[in-house]
Amino acid sequence: MVTCERCHRKFATYGALKQHYGNQHPNVKWTPELESKLTGEREVEAYRSNVSPKRGSNSKLIIAVVLILIVAGAAWYYVSTNSGSGTTVTGDPTLSICITDSTVLAEHIHPQLQIVVNGRPVTIPANVGISAACLRPVHTHDESGEIHVESPVVYPYTLHDFFLVWGQPFDSTQVLQYKVDSGHALKMTVNGTPNSDFQNYVMHDGDQIVITYGPSS
Ligand SMILES: [Zn+2]
Ligand SMILES: [Zn+2]
Repeated sequence: MVTCERCHRKFATYGALKQHYGNQHPNVKWTPELESKLTGEREVEAYRSNVSPKRGSNSKLIIAVVLILIVAGAAWYYVSTNSGSGTTVTGDPTLSICITDSTVLAEHIHPQLQIVVNGRPVTIPANVGISAACLRPVHTHDESGEIHVESPVVYPYTLHDFFLVWGQPFDSTQVLQYKVDSGHALKMTVNGTPNSDFQNYVMHDGDQIVITYGPSS
């Protein structure tokens, strides 16, 4: 706030004061001191008008970066959840994919699994891999031992993937809690033929897989 020394009116800026001098007191000399204050005022204005557009473009840049990140994130999410239409799946999709009603299945096969322990069939539970949160691409619907492989990508799902979803151990040394020891052996057949791939066996449609644990002799 500046004041006119002649009439004591107040003005917001030296620019306004100078205009007032010109209008009301044309004979009063506009001093170099006042002129320098006016110049200072203009420099501040110029500085502000220089700075604020920069600030604006900075925030535009930030918004642009954020938008790019959002778009990239959405694209990544789309690719990783809709891999059926896409092509990029890295790693085992067993635990990274959830099947939904809108999932386009690229693969739908039904191998049959039977586990026999000491001469008795072990019930493979219904709804392995099915929860409210996620329908895994490898799952069961009933206790028949039928494994459903329903996947938006064609992938060589193995028995390991099924046991992983089930949460049970299986390899050449153990099935469920049953471990191979000096008195017990573990064998596997696929369609009646002995198979030594165990957890690494890639399942096919219609496979009859039998895992047998029992006395070695
Ligand atoms: Zn199913
Ligand atoms: Zn099915």
